[in-house]
Amino acid sequence: MSLQERDKKHLWHPLTQHKSHPNHIAITKAKGAVLYDENNNEYIDGIASWYTCVYGHCNPYIINKVRAQMETLDHVVFTGFTHKPAVELSEKLIQILPENQEKLFFSDNGSTAIDVAIKMALQYHFNREEKRTKIIALENGFHGDTFGAMSVSGLSVYNGPFEEFFIDVSRIPVPNAENLEAVKATFTKLITEHNVAAFIYEPLVQGAAAMQVHKAEHINEILKIAHRHNVVTIADEVMTGFGKTGKNFASEYIEIKPDIICLSKALSAGMVPMAITSCSQKIYDAFYADDMKKGFFHGHTYSGNPVACSAAIAGIELLQSEEIQANLQRIQISHQTFGEDIKKHPKVASVRQQGQIFALDLNIQMERYGNLRDKLFNSFMSKGVCLRPLGNTIYILAPYITTDAQLQKIYQAIRKTIDEL
Ligand SMILES: *Cc1c(COP(=O)(O)O)cnc(C)c1O
Repeated sequence: MSLQERDKKHLWHPLTQHKSHPNHIAITKAKGAVLYDENNNEYIDGIASWYTCVYGHCNPYIINKVRAQMETLDHVVFTGFTHKPAVELSEKLIQILPENQEKLFFSDNGSTAIDVAIKMALQYHFNREEKRTKIIALENGFHGDTFGAMSVSGLSVYNGPFEEFFIDVSRIPVPNAENLEAVKATFTKLITEHNVAAFIYEPLVQGAAAMQVHKAEHINEILKIAHRHNVVTIADEVMTGFGKTGKNFASEYIEIKPDIICLSKALSAGMVPMAITSCSQKIYDAFYADDMKKGFFHGHTYSGNPVACSAAIAGIELLQSEEIQANLQRIQISHQTFGEDIKKHPKVASVRQQGQIFALDLNIQMERYGNLRDKLFNSFMSKGVCLRPLGNTIYILAPYITTDAQLQKIYQAIRKTIDEL
């Protein structure tokens, strides 16, 4: 029996309605930018397996570091103990994070990084004996699927059934040139009329909202107001971190630096799961006290796992290498050229790009084509390219080692698929 058939007996997949989507393609190996399935088909991983494997699958540089770490120290409790991979990672990461970031807190995935950030922000005010309970988020944001992260995400079919259990959240529109003054007014009103603890946002690019891009100067206006009212600012860089937007972190484009930053996905290079919530000295200092209760009593069993830390160290070293930096330039220019061309296609409404992130919107009504997403996905896969459209948006976020020939194959698959619609 194939893996695909055996899968059906006991496995329940994430974000899946199994009745309409019973089949899962069994991937047996991966190398560089390519995935191989159990029938020996090849697919270029055009989304770097949800933006994780940015240095390529099974990268030998990362494997060597991880293997050496596995043979030296696999795991140790991170409460009361520390170790070299965590110390080294902290030094490397603090060097590249925005300059106000000072402390790192470990967890396991993007959602937990967000939950940690929310708890940090709430307890920051609690420790200072200020009653602040409301969080403000951007409409259509996505921050994950645990309760805190789900509460601050935009409303959708994913979190609908749980709405009445959410933490206290208000959502504001993403600021743009037209609505900026109105959004600023709404934001200020919320802050003056409620006890607002924190503002959470995906800087520059909202990933799950179909790679919607906003301007640094507009979000900066909102951050200025937050700053003035001591509302803790939380930048969710789970998707945007580690070179995706053209700089190491999207927050580098924005003048006001966040109090807290959430990292995961490419952090540990797709090798093993890990997340980090970083914060400024100001946040940390509110927890540093003679009073035991003021400490941050949050922890996960695998916090600071040495193997994951070693993967993250290797990832940062690769990110800083001349080779990867040159690739980032090359891919960015390649996407620009493709964008100039494909935007003339009659079925393309618009294209946008921010660094490695390329997206185009189709000029097509979803309803008219039934399940457009499935149709597009299947078409791409039949052409040897793995892309997962979001609604009628097709986006590329390929590994940073994708070759020019592989990029052309991705572009061809998109062009042909759109032609055939
Ligand atoms: C993926 C993602 C998350 C959630 O991360 P998980 O590891 O899937 O829990 C949170 N925020 C953003 C912006 C993401 O892209």
